[in-house]
Amino acid sequence: MDFQHVKEQDKQYIMNTYGRFDACIVKGKGAVCTDSNGKEYVDFTSGIGVNSLGFGDESWVKAVTEQAGNLAHISNLYYTLPDVELAKTLCEKTGYSRVFFGNSGAEANEGAIKVARKYSFDKYGPGRNGIITLLNSFHGRTVTTLAATGQEVFHNYFYPFTEGFSYSIANDFDDFLKAVGKTTCAVMMEFIQGEGGVNALDKDYVKKVVSYCNEHDILVIGDEVQTGIGRTGKLLCGEHFGVQPDITTLAKGLGGGLPIGAVLVNDKLKDVLGASTHGTTFGGNPVVCAGANAVLKKVANDPFLKEVELKGEKIRACLACCPEVKSLSGLGLMVGIELKTKKSADVAKACLEKGLLVLTAKTKVRLLPPLTITDEELTRGLNVLWEVLS
Ligand SMILES: *Cc1c(COP(=O)(O)O)cnc(C)c1O
Repeated sequence: MDFQHVKEQDKQYIMNTYGRFDACIVKGKGAVCTDSNGKEYVDFTSGIGVNSLGFGDESWVKAVTEQAGNLAHISNLYYTLPDVELAKTLCEKTGYSRVFFGNSGAEANEGAIKVARKYSFDKYGPGRNGIITLLNSFHGRTVTTLAATGQEVFHNYFYPFTEGFSYSIANDFDDFLKAVGKTTCAVMMEFIQGEGGVNALDKDYVKKVVSYCNEHDILVIGDEVQTGIGRTGKLLCGEHFGVQPDITTLAKGLGGGLPIGAVLVNDKLKDVLGASTHGTTFGGNPVVCAGANAVLKKVANDPFLKEVELKGEKIRACLACCPEVKSLSGLGLMVGIELKTKKSADVAKACLEKGLLVLTAKTKVRLLPPLTITDEELTRGLNVLWEVLS
């Protein structure tokens, strides 16, 4: 099928919910992928933070294909090996006590919201169910996670939303104190707002909110769907802020390319969701978990995480000298680039033409390269970016 035909068929048969770039990607290796015309691109997107090990990582492919050959699915009515191994590793490496597996970031956040509300219901009875999220946040596309998402633009069309959400200004502790009340059961935040523009929260603000919540038995939910599993140079981004939320949600980078979501809870919450209070058919799928185990084997150790940090520094040092760059944000291999004159969407389009995939986040260019990107691939991609920004 030639590219023009693919585009027509896509438009005809798939709901037109995505603005796609003008390329059909057919394969990849490492941090380089190839389109249907044979043109190569350096990938600074990881499929939006998903392909943490890049394309076609040998250990990941082996784990996934072997598991697919042995047992692709059986349902949560039976015990399986890969999900137990994954849950144990996640708990041991993060300090959390238990895990629930789902299939996406939104679903992980839904699970976290259910844990928070049930914890409060069990302990305080009905009515204490309010959840505070931050303005400019992004927590997913389901009706409830849209309600959690503190951006008015997402709140068209789909009313009525799940009740009980209110929004507070990020980095404004006084505003948080105004929002919080007797009926608040949880606060949910991204330590670095990804879709919102790669904006890291202030450390001091995060610490104040977390300690206030701890004092008042209000649960803290860290949405690490984008920042988790090594993206920022720590296994969890919360480490940079010196906090461990009661609940952390994971998704994108955990699976290394297959759909997964995870809700991690601390000791206090480990028994909140008992038999038949929550579930999902595909959650903990053996193939997906085998892939995630391969990801953690590579990523969840200090030397690898140090490398991520160094690669992030290399990108930042390179871009800091670029006259078009106004400022840089984010941590590790999660980079936001504020521009002086150019539009982020135009930059992304120009990069594509010259063989580089980048993301945008509002007015910023956003980079989420694979954590395993090599020095050579980084240099090749940065050269294109420099050319486009000059
Ligand atoms: C992507 C993202 C989500 C939603 O994840 P999906 O897998 O698309 O449902 C939620 N929270 C954050 C911080 C994200 O970046």
